[in-house]
Amino acid sequence: AARHDGRGNHAFYTREALQQARRRLKIQHALRGAVDRDEFSVVYQPLVHVDSGIAPGIEALLRWHRPAGGHCGPAEFIPIAEDCGEIVRLGDWVIAEACRQAAAWDEAGLRFGRMSVNVSAVQLRDRGFAERVIARCRQAGWPAHRLELELTESALVRDTELLRDCFDTLQSHGVSLAVDDFGTGFSNLHYLNRFPVSRLKIDRSLILDIQRSAESGDLTRAIIQLGQAMRMQVVVEGVETAIEEQLLREHGCDEIQGYLYTRPLPPREMAQWLRSGVPLRAPGLTADPQPA
Ligand code: C2E
Ligand code: MG
Ligand code: MG
Ligand code: MG
Repeated sequence: AARHDGRGNHAFYTREALQQARRRLKIQHALRGAVDRDEFSVVYQPLVHVDSGIAPGIEALLRWHRPAGGHCGPAEFIPIAEDCGEIVRLGDWVIAEACRQAAAWDEAGLRFGRMSVNVSAVQLRDRGFAERVIARCRQAGWPAHRLELELTESALVRDTELLRDCFDTLQSHGVSLAVDDFGTGFSNLHYLNRFPVSRLKIDRSLILDIQRSAESGDLTRAIIQLGQAMRMQVVVEGVETAIEEQLLREHGCDEIQGYLYTRPLPPREMAQWLRSGVPLRAPGLTADPQPA
């Protein structure tokens, strides 16, 4: 009953908020020094070229193995690491690790194009970021032109000299940029035109209705064409069904990423996937029959 009067409600939500704040604080505390304690690993998910079925890229995704406490995914701990600044060290570790792994796979004769690493706005704003990225590539023996950084639009909102210098340095070494989660933020084309972005990753939320709604299909097609008109490659992420894949192929999408091909995999399984699985789907294959 107390929950139904205004003050009760207030107390209820306050308790929730308090619990949330406590969890955040706990995570923040646990994050400190976690890199040095070896609590992180990287899993990998391929991007698949729509026409050839080959994997032109692999995305590195961070995983945290908390010794105490339950599951905590990057969608939860990355924003916290950004707030407390820990993301700078953590992000640096991911780049080094992903480049090391990429070089090892390449050395082992596995064929793929680029390695993509997610980078947050806080990292970009950290002085010397671009130089550190280049140094990591060199140390790992991974060519910088085969590294791609995935940024969200929020990283591009503020056009500062620092950001320009950062992108200039990266570009001069051939590091490419992708805009992640397109369609969830401002989706402001102005940002994209201002910076040397070569790839647009359309968020899963934009294609959720694509099988049922012609309007959603039209919108997706329009965004794909728009990205391509701006000389960007267009990827759709979070593709789960063969029907979605077929529609996206018809809409002219360049690359697809999603559970349809595979979930993100630990290194050994990713290597196996590269060895055996490519090309998984020959061009022009009709969609698998889907259960109703
Ligand atoms: P993101 O970069 O947009 O990565 C895509 C997310 O969607 C990943 O979640 C991936 O596992 C998931 N995914 C892939 N295919 C499918 C699909 O077919 N269906 C569905 N429903 N989901 C799919 P994950 O690994 O939990 O990562 C979440 C987000 O955390 C990432 O989104 C990225 O923004 C961030 N993140 C992950 N690793 C890093 C990192 O090393 N550094 C930074 N700064 N952020 C990271
Ligand atoms: Mg990404
Ligand atoms: Mg995304
Ligand atoms: Mg994201």
